[in-house]
Amino acid sequence: MPPDDPAGTRRRSPAPGRRPGTGPSRRPGRRPGTVYAALSLAALGAGLAALLLLAEPGTIRGQTAAYIPQPAPPPAAPAPFAPYEGSEAQHRRLELADLVALFPDRVVRHGAADRPAVALTFDDGPDDRYTPAILDILAEHQVPGTFFINGVRAERSGDVLRRIVKEGHTLASHGWAHARYSALTPDGIRADLNRNKELIKELGGDTELFRPPYGALDMIAAEVVVNQGYHIVLWSIDTRDWMNRTADEIVNTVLEEIHPGAIILQHSAGGSDMDLSGTVEALPIIIRELKTLGYEFVPIRELMGAVPAGPAEPEAGTRTVQRP
Ligand SMILES: [Zn+2]
Repeated sequence: MPPDDPAGTRRRSPAPGRRPGTGPSRRPGRRPGTVYAALSLAALGAGLAALLLLAEPGTIRGQTAAYIPQPAPPPAAPAPFAPYEGSEAQHRRLELADLVALFPDRVVRHGAADRPAVALTFDDGPDDRYTPAILDILAEHQVPGTFFINGVRAERSGDVLRRIVKEGHTLASHGWAHARYSALTPDGIRADLNRNKELIKELGGDTELFRPPYGALDMIAAEVVVNQGYHIVLWSIDTRDWMNRTADEIVNTVLEEIHPGAIILQHSAGGSDMDLSGTVEALPIIIRELKTLGYEFVPIRELMGAVPAGPAEPEAGTRTVQRP
């Protein structure tokens, strides 16, 4: 269960075996003698009994409450399917380093450090506005990109998806509905993965690459994704363009953090509250500047091929900031 699952927290209380009406004030506790005495005194008259109870009401309540059993909370059931609502900015979780440590041969954040190569990646597409503009720039500069797409958007922008493949870019999975996988059941995760996989397969994309929406994978979700045969592709440079940043801010982030083997994360679509004009404006500048620094733009598979498998991978869970 994710730590931020409010439903799970609610499910833990009330504890089992405690029905309404069986709270502390109504339990007999371990003072039967007191109760019998009270009953006996009651025979002498309601007034006398009332006097006795008034003499130590706090003692009875206090001692009874001390013996209420406290059973362990039951395991919480997974949260129900969460539909795509809001934006990356509202839902993103940033803790990703553990994924590399847990699945070092199936999770990648960057390529090898001994080659000045980088991969451009774009999430949340397709759309009819930013994705075509990005494709235009990539075509103009003859640079490959990887698009982690949500199939739920395909009905509106199917032609854009076909264009991505036709122009030689990599089409990969960002889940069908941009659901937070850490909040889905294993069956829900598999259903979402498979629905997107069918679409990507039909379009001729790469059916074994997956990037989690919001970067939100807990242990259970990560195991399901890996067992479905996916490589989980993360990133080493987050342009944070989902925060509606300007082109200057995006360019500066890339140039400050660039390193050999970098996987650069940007977006090619998003919620209605996301303005990606900075992404589009920054892209030709990023391409030009990195080429000037001697970097080569390669497909994500080519970058991943240079990643050593196994726990010996260097820099696991940390950003490698080096200049060529
Ligand atoms: Zn996303």
